[in-house]
Amino acid sequence: MSTLERPETLRQREAPLEMSPETFRALGHRTVDRIAEMLETIRTRKVTPGESVSFVRGLVGEDGLPETGGDPAALLDRAASLLIEHSLYNGHPRFFGYITSSPAPIGFLGDLLAAAVNPNCGAFELSPMATEIELQTIRWIGEMIGFPAGAGVLVSGGNMANFLGFVAARRAKAGVDVRTLGTASAAGTLCIYTSAETHTWIQKAADLFGLGTEAIRWIPTDAHLAMDVAALREAIARDRAAGERPFIVIGTAGSVSTGAVDPLPEIAEVCRENDLWFHVDGAYGGLAAVLPDASEALRGLSLADSVAVDPHKWLYAPIEAGCTLVRDPNALRDAFSYSPAYYPFMHDAETPVNFFEQGPQNSRGFRALKVWLGLQQAGREGYVRMIGDDCRLAEALHCAAAAHPELEAFTCGLSIATFRYVPRDLRGKADAEEHLNALNQELLKRLRLGGEVFLTNAMVGGRFLLRACIVNFRTQLEDVEAVPEIVAVLGREVDRELRA
Ligand SMILES: *Cc1c(COP(=O)(O)O)cnc(C)c1O
Repeated sequence: MSTLERPETLRQREAPLEMSPETFRALGHRTVDRIAEMLETIRTRKVTPGESVSFVRGLVGEDGLPETGGDPAALLDRAASLLIEHSLYNGHPRFFGYITSSPAPIGFLGDLLAAAVNPNCGAFELSPMATEIELQTIRWIGEMIGFPAGAGVLVSGGNMANFLGFVAARRAKAGVDVRTLGTASAAGTLCIYTSAETHTWIQKAADLFGLGTEAIRWIPTDAHLAMDVAALREAIARDRAAGERPFIVIGTAGSVSTGAVDPLPEIAEVCRENDLWFHVDGAYGGLAAVLPDASEALRGLSLADSVAVDPHKWLYAPIEAGCTLVRDPNALRDAFSYSPAYYPFMHDAETPVNFFEQGPQNSRGFRALKVWLGLQQAGREGYVRMIGDDCRLAEALHCAAAAHPELEAFTCGLSIATFRYVPRDLRGKADAEEHLNALNQELLKRLRLGGEVFLTNAMVGGRFLLRACIVNFRTQLEDVEAVPEIVAVLGREVDRELRA
């Protein structure tokens, strides 16, 4: 086709996704107004609408892919209405579920800005400013928790952050070139040591990275649900004697169920003696190392070879943001880098950091911006205050549960409190456990649908417990003080029904 034959529409393209700056400004302001309204009214809303799957699916509709395009103003309005009116708000002051934080508003704005500039943080050349901001963010996170980070990278969340530490360990300690020869070439099973309270990421890691879940040695825990280090030593010695190849010990800095912290300094010592990689899963509790009164057990994370933390938990960044930190500046590059011919920018004179070499992702979004902004808006002092307050609110809830005649309080670790409903006549009755488990399970289900407060559960010693995890800068004392009576009212109702 000659130049002359090219249609006029190519000269004056009207791409369906283009938007004039004026339209963008108008729609942007409108969307921001909707978000501001959500913030204004969040306290008066339910934590969750508790709507059924079929109802929510019906709202989205069963239509096929639209053949022709639509008006962006109407589309954004509908999206805002669907999301704002039919979502669970983890930013609600009474959301205490799982380990999910309320997101910092500066983070929403950061994500918008990041998406608009759209740097590809796989390589410095494609994201010069964003890469340097990510590097500074990583340094600040290391400083905050007292970990001497030689390198690091932001990833999607805690699972991924732990995976990267795990893969770095596998590369460094397998005793063979696993990247070329695979794990089957190792002399003996590559054994993993971790406590029975470890988050389920470890099973995914053992599976995905070719070790198999049978390579996991589940080390028992003590009365505080922290790893029993004597049992750890024995397990390593037993595997060594059997010709296996121990390579990593994982310590948890804040377990998912109860906020338990493993004795990290002792575990570090075991790793040093046995030449094993020491990885700390600090996805939840790692950031609490910023507190001036952080325990010695927790501070021991500074001795690790790698640490995973979750900025989308205790840095209150909007999802997604996880972070892997490694002590050895080369540990991540050694585990992930290849040098294909089509990436010439790796060998620049100044050798910038190209993040595609530091992890599994190639193209990467600018996750760091929302984290970097939050770190500066609050500062170290601000985070000490917010994280400290979350822990004190969990303690207050634990005390309020202990003081309530129909509640029984259990653990309180970091910002997680556990308790359960116990009818007065069943207090201290050993044969009531089965009824109490069924009761609390049903109670929790109703509580969550009701939307007054959102709790999840923990299983401790065979008991089904209600669990509040406060990673929420919006929560006030009145929000936690309201919990015992909300639970007790529902508890009485469920108990009556179950006995009938
Ligand atoms: C939350 C959490 C994870 C998983 O993190 P995601 O961000 O959900 O992927 C892993 N370990 C611990 C201890 C956690 O608290």
